[in-house]
Amino acid sequence: MPHRPYIVGNWKMNGTRAMLTEARAIDRAAARHPGVQVALAPPFTLVHAVAEETQAVGTGGQDCHTAAKGAHTGDVSAAMLADAGADFVIVGHSERRRDHGETDTLVQAKAEAALAGGLGVIVCVGETLAERDAGKAEAVVTMQVKASLPKLDEGAKANPARMAVAYEPVWAIGTGRVAAVEDVVAMHGAIRATLLSLYGESGAAVRILYGGSVNAENARDLLAADGVGGALVGGASLNAESFLAIVAAAASEA
Ligand code: PEP
Repeated sequence: MPHRPYIVGNWKMNGTRAMLTEARAIDRAAARHPGVQVALAPPFTLVHAVAEETQAVGTGGQDCHTAAKGAHTGDVSAAMLADAGADFVIVGHSERRRDHGETDTLVQAKAEAALAGGLGVIVCVGETLAERDAGKAEAVVTMQVKASLPKLDEGAKANPARMAVAYEPVWAIGTGRVAAVEDVVAMHGAIRATLLSLYGESGAAVRILYGGSVNAENARDLLAADGVGGALVGGASLNAESFLAIVAAAASEA
């Protein structure tokens, strides 16, 4: 694995302050695995508390607005996330694309706003089952990467290590269905080639994570696969024990 493996828990719309117990347990264990970069993306309401109560774990938001501030009721900017203690943000998750009609153009603007606001950014891409069955998975994902990642400018060039792409086949999210390792390897190869074409040699520093029903049982095989730089984990990140089993699998691959 060329980069320090990056294991990110996406809590989605789950968690009240009682979940801080899990965050603290994850933090204690992450400190024992310095070879793995561990992070949590709790709901906005817990970003500040998770950031305050953890040291070894990064803290992120699950979305940000394209603007730094203004009349956008219910939205949160990258600057606000940074002020709350976040160091990164996830943008373009398929649940936001589905629930909020987010397009590649909007996701790109959010990713650029994240970098401009001083945050790292994880941009999610992935095909639907119909697109995979039609043999279009690679074309769809390549297009999403080109259209959703920050445009090549000084920000993106200066910050390749602050950027990650999460390849998350939509049909594998929260379903218990995991992509075959050979398909993950092929897709990660296609994404890397696209990153190099977008950013030149800086594209080699962008991490590529796999997401979609990663758990303690399948993590080792997925994380050992060629080109897989880590995992974006939904359901299995809600519980310290199951999330830490994935972190331990990453440590054994590091
Ligand atoms: C996700 O939503 O980013 C995700 C990968 O979810 P799950 O692990 O539950 O499939």
